[in-house]
Amino acid sequence: MDFKSLQLHEPILKALEEEGYTSPTPIQEQSIPLILQGKDLLGCAQTGTGKTAAFTIPILQLMLSNPPKDQRKRVRTLIVTPTRELAIQIGESFKAYGKYTGLKYAVVFGGVNQNSQVNAIRTGVEAIIATPGRLLDLINQGLLSIKEVQFFVLDEADRMLDMGFVHDVKKIIAFLPQKRQSLFFSATMPPEIVNLASSILKSPEKVTVTPVSSTVEIIQQSVFFVSKTNKNALLIDILKDKKIKTALVFTRTKHGADKIAKVLSLNNITTEAIHGNKSQNARQRALSNFKSQTTRVLVATDIAARGIDVDELEYVINYDVPNIAETYVHRIGRTGRAGAKGTAMSFCDVDERPFLQNIEKLIAKKIPVAPHTYAQGVSDIAPKKEATSKARKKVFNRNK
Ligand code: AMP
Repeated sequence: MDFKSLQLHEPILKALEEEGYTSPTPIQEQSIPLILQGKDLLGCAQTGTGKTAAFTIPILQLMLSNPPKDQRKRVRTLIVTPTRELAIQIGESFKAYGKYTGLKYAVVFGGVNQNSQVNAIRTGVEAIIATPGRLLDLINQGLLSIKEVQFFVLDEADRMLDMGFVHDVKKIIAFLPQKRQSLFFSATMPPEIVNLASSILKSPEKVTVTPVSSTVEIIQQSVFFVSKTNKNALLIDILKDKKIKTALVFTRTKHGADKIAKVLSLNNITTEAIHGNKSQNARQRALSNFKSQTTRVLVATDIAARGIDVDELEYVINYDVPNIAETYVHRIGRTGRAGAKGTAMSFCDVDERPFLQNIEKLIAKKIPVAPHTYAQGVSDIAPKKEATSKARKKVFNRNK
């Protein structure tokens, strides 16, 4: 299948060609025809599958096909996403795919002064890409109306739940007209998400791509069994490899991210940290330095990293093993995007073993163990006091 066979309008095809897209990704192949038919959609897809284009392209097509009769500009599309980084990234996609359509959009998110966003809205935009809090703020101030929205997208719904946005989302839905087309995307589908989806969608078509295990297959994964105290030394050691032009390092905590950034910087490795305590400007600056390879290592927490879309990011390093298996898949999904090469290394200390087991269960494969200088036999990797010698032996054998 190619994009031409979807009978998209010429301005969209031209933009896709310029982006270098030749054929749709599986989520696009499945979703675009359904959305074009006006169906509600429940998409189970993670980032890196091309899901942004899967909803942006058909929405642009439908907006072009059905211009308002009275020429009055109103918000016809609303895309709600949990983080500012994601909002900006979706905005970039809207800009790229819609560049010849003449359709105007605005991106709104919190943490920055609202004036420039309000000014953009006042110019008469037809699409809004927003994080929930700022969107509600602007609606409540009477600066934005979503009463005439025809196309509503809720992106990364599971993350919305994690971040405690569910009430905001429900309030937003209450402002939307009953008659609309709704698209709902989530990487995972726990029961709360299924409930939320059923309150938003009408007889949705379901699209599931890449059960988590298949996306991660193209990524070369390895686990380094290492004690907490040796993680910094191991990281510095790995980064001696000049092949690693840039690497995204994940940590569970903001404090951890800052500490690692400090240690790496002291070792002459250009590093910046991004997390929720950093200002929007600092985060954007760190991200663009990383994209331009001025910064070699970006240390990020899970939430801050969610919107990072760096073409050709080859290395992801999990400084700690995430306690939620799906988070591992999200993290390593930052690399190996759209068929590119990807390498994911995870540092696992003895307390993190159970997390590793859950991950291996989820992705339905064993992650190969990497040999390294700091895996000095049993002492480094042995479980603490309570461990049996049998368990120790197992750990040791696995690490050989
Ligand atoms: P997403 O899952 O939306 O975060 O997209 C992941 C990456 O895939 C982005 O960098 C897109 O630019 C890229 N991409 C999306 N669709 C296609 C396509 N049909 N062909 C090639 N690359 C694509």
